[in-house]
Amino acid sequence: MTTPQQSLTSIPNQPYIGRFAPSPSGELHFGSLITALGSYLQAKKNNGQWLLRIEDIDPPREVAGASQGIIESLERHQLLWDNKIVYQSQRSHMYEGRLAELLQQNLTYNCHCTRAELAMLDCKICCPCADQGKSPEGAAIRFKNTQAITTFYDAVQQQVVADNNAVEAQFCLKRKDGLYAYQLAVVSDDIDQGITEVVRGADLLQATFYQLALYRAFAVPAPRFVHLPLVINAEGKKLSKQNHAQVLDPNRANHNLVDAMKFLGLSPPASLCKAKVETMLNWAIESWDLAHVPKVIACHDNRIAEL
Ligand code: GLU
Repeated sequence: MTTPQQSLTSIPNQPYIGRFAPSPSGELHFGSLITALGSYLQAKKNNGQWLLRIEDIDPPREVAGASQGIIESLERHQLLWDNKIVYQSQRSHMYEGRLAELLQQNLTYNCHCTRAELAMLDCKICCPCADQGKSPEGAAIRFKNTQAITTFYDAVQQQVVADNNAVEAQFCLKRKDGLYAYQLAVVSDDIDQGITEVVRGADLLQATFYQLALYRAFAVPAPRFVHLPLVINAEGKKLSKQNHAQVLDPNRANHNLVDAMKFLGLSPPASLCKAKVETMLNWAIESWDLAHVPKVIACHDNRIAEL
């Protein structure tokens, strides 16, 4: 028997469509290569499409030239996407339409609270603005997440349960500065692009609880979810653009890919390391199996390519 929450995450018998959705807040590093390669291999193993979506929805966090750098680095690693690249910065009309659907269902409210004020609240209740009919002028628009989803099935992490069921009773849909928030944009795009499976880093496990609440509100079946282990550095911190993770050297595409394959549980033979990138990727597609991906939230960055 399936529970209502399990049945939310099932798009059965549809041609596979996956995606890689980097934010251009920096260039590709080893952590983002893991997500790119894992989502690519999973799509290709399932004879599916692999789409590229540049999540340039937050101009203040964007680094000039990063989008182009990401695209070129993917090309140098021969991780070639299907169809045209989608840019979130060009899709505001769609996010506005989705937001209007939520408004109509009375699932949103205008909020004037500061981050500090929200942090002081019990996370299981909406802030007082929810009942006060606050003016939209200068307000953030929040989702009333009063029936939060607190568990879901993930193909690598398996049953994921929110810590102490602490999924917040509200999250942002549109910010005070007028920018659309990540949860709304990503769900709107994944629905619009017909994504059947989301493969991404385990740093977004928590976000999945919010995104599933939006799928339910839109009455659209959610994709399957696969959260890959995060790459962490010697200090136990996630490799990220903010942590100044080293940008991938595209001249070392072979080495980078072998390291990424090993991290994802593949065992490339030594002979493969000298092969062309295309040959390497074909071997990896053939050998790819989600069951070999380590079921952990984070793994150390042991770059041990024996070349
Ligand atoms: N844009 C997000 C990031 O770069 C990923 C979004 C997603 O895969 O859902 O971290």
